[in-house]
Formats: sequence, structure tokens, C-alpha cells
Amino acid sequence: MGAVTVHQLNKEFSGVKALNNVNLEIEEGEFFALLGPSGCGKTTTMRCIAGFEDPTSGTITIGNEQVNHIPPNRRNCGMVFQSYALFPHMNVFENVAYSLNIKQLNEKNVLAKMGVYARLLNRRLGRMPKDMERKVMEILEYMELDQYAERLTSELSGGQQQRVALGRALVMEPAVLLMDEPLSNLDQKLRHSMRNTIRRIQQDLGITTIFVTHDQEEAMSMADRVAVMNNGEVMQIGKPTDLYSHPSTSFIANFVGTSNSLHVNSAIQDGEYTILKGDGFTLKTLHQSKDNGTAIIRPESIQIHHRDTEMNSDSMNILEGEILISTYLGSIVRYEVKFANHQLIVDATYASGESILKPGTKVKLAIDPERVLVI
Ligand code: ATP
Repeated sequence: MGAVTVHQLNKEFSGVKALNNVNLEIEEGEFFALLGPSGCGKTTTMRCIAGFEDPTSGTITIGNEQVNHIPPNRRNCGMVFQSYALFPHMNVFENVAYSLNIKQLNEKNVLAKMGVYARLLNRRLGRMPKDMERKVMEILEYMELDQYAERLTSELSGGQQQRVALGRALVMEPAVLLMDEPLSNLDQKLRHSMRNTIRRIQQDLGITTIFVTHDQEEAMSMADRVAVMNNGEVMQIGKPTDLYSHPSTSFIANFVGTSNSLHVNSAIQDGEYTILKGDGFTLKTLHQSKDNGTAIIRPESIQIHHRDTEMNSDSMNILEGEILISTYLGSIVRYEVKFANHQLIVDATYASGESILKPGTKVKLAIDPERVLVI
């Protein structure tokens, strides 16, 4: 019922190409994140799925049905917006009951016509069937909002408001839940706990969920799979661990986590290793590479030692450098290290009581060839 397929989707806004041949296959019950920088086309993709935008070309299928010509309120999608789009003058119960009464999901229209709908709803609530009332109360209990049923949403915290917005989407029992940056209005601590709440509910209900975010940590920690977008295109789709360990481009490597990128001029096979040569460095890797590639090394893949430490370079890359900046970050220390004509970021785990290497310290960097990725 809830699988979503987006096939060769293109969208232009008066000459601006917002989406360029976007293809997605989202499985039933999957938590799927659309991740990318501002303006890359995440929201436009989601709005096309929801039916709030007409694609310039391409098809969208929900379940077995091609929905291009089906209006938003008949697509069986629940939607949660960054702005929550709750009615501040209605209580929590009324806000959740609202979507059962009026299947109008277009955020713009909802906000514009709020006054009219509120009056309509007040009239309808008087004769709300008992089973609908029970359903609203069930969802309020499920969202741990039942004790706030009578409270105006304007009198709730941001996290509680977000739970009301989620409850309002779920009470419709949609096949697909669409969430557009739902956590960006919350402070960091609340954002973390809401991540867990949303993930728990999603797994509990098994509802296909498409989640838009520009926050890579959010996407990586919540989603089963992530599509990374840039300039209206899908750059790579994969499980968070695959995107992190096998980024297909430098853009992905830098957008998904932090990475060191070194341009490689030549790559020569030598037994099991490929020898990479670049400006002032030689590195061995166990991965295949072509000339003119990029070596990608994650900060945590580099071990840092004093320059006078004895090290065996047979099976490791040993580089010499000098610390420029040391930053204590709690469980790790981040070092910025000058090496040849480059600057590398190194994350060293920190145990309390250890001393932190100071700027100016001459160091050796050890990198396992397995951890030198090439693009
Ligand atoms: P953000 O994270 O900032 O919300 P996004 O990745 O969701 O960005 P979109 O909102 O999908 O990006 O926008 C993609 C591109 O399409 C941008 O260049 C944007 O300016 C443009 N765009 C979006 N909506 C419209 C519109 N209604 N009219 C004209 N251009 C638009």
C-alpha cells in the first residue's frame, strides 16, 4: 500500500530547474530521508509526492496507483510541516479531530482559510460520531497528549505542538507520512528526543515515511535509507553506513560527515596496494583508483602520535605533520594538522587525564590503507 515510486521527475518554476530527473523507489514501511543543502529540491520533491505541485514531467506512484492526476486529499498521505500549521485558537483535541473532519491538507490553503474552517469545525464537532471521538482520544493517548486534550495549542511547548501535528497526520491512518523539516524549530535537546519519538512511532506503526532534512546527522541517525540531493538531482541513495563508508563523490563525502579530500595525480597498482601520488604525498590504498581521482580519509581513520614514536610503515601509511589547531570536544580532540601542502582534520578519542597535543607539535599520522577511500 505505502510504497512510493518517483520516476524521472522534473520540475521547472518559470525557467528555474528545481528538479532534474529525480528517481526514487521507497519501499513499504521504510523510513526514507531526503537530505541536501538549501535549495537542492527536497521540498519540491516532497510537494510533488503530496500533490501540492504538478511535476513538469515524470510520474509518481503510491502503492499500485499512479497519482499524478489525483488531488492531495485523495493521495492517502499525512503531512507534517516545519511550521506545524496548528490552529492556535483550537485545543489539542480539536486540532487532531480537524483532519478527520476536513480532508484539506494544503498548508497554504489551511492557513489562509483558518478562520472559515474553524467555524465549520466548531459546528461539526457538536455532532462528531462517537467512534471518531474515540479515535482522536486513542491517538492523543498514543502521543502522550491526552492530558492536554483541552489545552489550546498556543499554550503548548514546541515539542508538544510537534506531537499534535504528528497526531493530526496519523489520525487519518495514511499510507505514507511526509515530514518536511519537522524538527528544525526545536532546540537541540528536544530535537534529539523527538528524533527518537518519531523513529519509535514510525517503527511501531510500520508506516512508510519520507523525511526532508538538511541536517545530515538527523538523516543518518533516523533513516533506513537516505537520498542525498544537490542542484535538483539525486546524487546517491543508500543506507547511512554505506553513504558514509562508500561515498560516490567528494560532495557526498563532505556532506555526509567530515572528510579529508586529497587530489591524486597518479595511481599505480603494486601487488595488493594501489599507490596514490599527489602534491607532496604518496599513499597506499587497498581500493582501486584511476589517475586524477580523490583520496578520501575520514578524520577518525587517522591515528596521531608524537613524531619520535617508532612506527612500521610496511602495512600502514605513515605521514609527518605539525599540529596547527587542537580543539577539545569532550569525547574527542579534533586536530588540524599541516601535512605537505595540505591540511588534514584528525579526530582522536580522548580519555580523561590524557594530555592534548599542542599547536606546533611535530607528529606522525598513521592511516590504514583499507581506510583510504578513492573516488
Ligand atoms: P530548503 O532546505 O531551503 O527548504 P529545498 O532543498 O527544500 O531547500 P526547494 O524548496 O525544493 O529546495 O527549492 C528548489 C529550487 O526551486 C530552489 O532554487 C528554489 O528557489 C526553487 N523554487 C522552489 N519553489 C519555487 C517557486 N514556487 N517558484 C520559483 N522557484 C521555486
